[in-house]
Amino acid sequence: MLCKICKAKGKREKAVIFIRHHRLALCKKHFLEWFQKQTLKTIKHFSMFKKNEKIGVAVSGGKDSLSLWQLLTEAGFETVGIHISLGIDTEDYSKKSLNLCQKLAEKINKPLIVFDLKKEFEHTIEEIAKLSGRKDICSICGTFKRYIMNKVALKENLYAIATGHNLDDESAVLLSNTIRWEIGYLGRQYPVLHEREGFARKVKPFCFLTEKEIVSYAILKGIDFMETGCPNAKMATSPAYKQALAYLEHKMPGTKLRFYKEFLKKAKPIFEKETKEEYDLTPCKICGMPTTADICSVCRILEKIRGVDA
Ligand code: SF4
Ligand code: ZN
Ligand code: ZN
Repeated sequence: MLCKICKAKGKREKAVIFIRHHRLALCKKHFLEWFQKQTLKTIKHFSMFKKNEKIGVAVSGGKDSLSLWQLLTEAGFETVGIHISLGIDTEDYSKKSLNLCQKLAEKINKPLIVFDLKKEFEHTIEEIAKLSGRKDICSICGTFKRYIMNKVALKENLYAIATGHNLDDESAVLLSNTIRWEIGYLGRQYPVLHEREGFARKVKPFCFLTEKEIVSYAILKGIDFMETGCPNAKMATSPAYKQALAYLEHKMPGTKLRFYKEFLKKAKPIFEKETKEEYDLTPCKICGMPTTADICSVCRILEKIRGVDA
């Protein structure tokens, strides 16, 4: 297959990728250009951030977040990487993830902030989940990650936190929320989560790009990334929704993009109206971070654990 853009210019260059839902075959050069253009278009369309604003990129060591960090840096944005080391020993997951983030930081010559859970809270994420008596490690992990990102954003005076969530992630979350008619979540699902006292602005510049496109970008740019996901990922439900959507995508190319884009355009504004509740935020009595209760959920969990420890 030949690159469509090269062909239009009268050149014969072999395509490295065929993007089925756009019916687009592209060579390396034109794919990398297309990929960056799509990301920048999304950033502009949703007014995510501008060139002079300092952005924290949440990097896990996976293809999505590392690709995003390199792309934003190359596009001239002011970036800093933020990595949360969860202390997961299985297959040396946390150690390897941190190494890959450090490697990219050196390559692109940007600072990396590392938040080590064990050092800061005396326990790894698996210990926290176990000691607090919770089986849903991923939901605890999500709570801690959000808390830490907000804290770092505040401390470093960051304009926004960018995450590597892609179209596969977003459409899977959308399907899961739709199947359960989670109106509250549907009203909030959006590529930009606006800042509110103490809560950082969160943005997802890759929300219209697929996993396949991102993995191709990472490989073509020579980015080393964790090929195996977190060992606890098998406990999450999202793979089932991703598989369902992959089947539909196979039968009807463009399903994922249509599903997500049409939701943002037609359904999200309706759900948003239904969920316009503003909560009063007060500083947590222990850590000072904003919360709707007296004590924030992270401090509540940590207090419980300290009780268990004692
Ligand atoms: Fe955390 Fe679960 Fe993701 Fe692992 S799979 S990083 S435990 S949320
Ligand atoms: Zn080309
Ligand atoms: Zn707190």
